[in-house]
Amino acid sequence: MTQKRSFEGRTTRCPSCSEEVRYSWLTGMSGPNLHFYANENNDVLLRSAWFPRIKVLLDDGAPDQTVLSEIDMLLATLPPSSAAKYSVWSNVKCPKCRNEFPYRFKGNLTLRLEDPAVILIEGCVLDSDGSVFVVEVDV
Ligand SMILES: [Zn+2]
Repeated sequence: MTQKRSFEGRTTRCPSCSEEVRYSWLTGMSGPNLHFYANENNDVLLRSAWFPRIKVLLDDGAPDQTVLSEIDMLLATLPPSSAAKYSVWSNVKCPKCRNEFPYRFKGNLTLRLEDPAVILIEGCVLDSDGSVFVVEVDV
């Protein structure tokens, strides 16, 4: 049974089905949180420790393909079920209709990877550097 943790948050409306969605967010207090959203739901993988390796490539102006290969290598260090679960361009989705919400930095890999805001949708599982828990949002 995964532990639960409560966050203060807000509600928004799904642009597709108008469902009210509760969400919260983390912001990078000590720099960007390298994070990925699950392909099939709103689970979040957060690995701050991975960011320095990515940052070196971004600062060098490495081609996107090189950066993406590095991310694949980092994801490959996870158990196979987790590695296949997340990808760079997955974004949060409506829990009801499953339509993905628009992402502000779509197509810009550097902004995407340096994005400090981690969106937590009610009920998602946050797998962070040191812990795994289910997110509850209080509004
Ligand atoms: Zn919806």
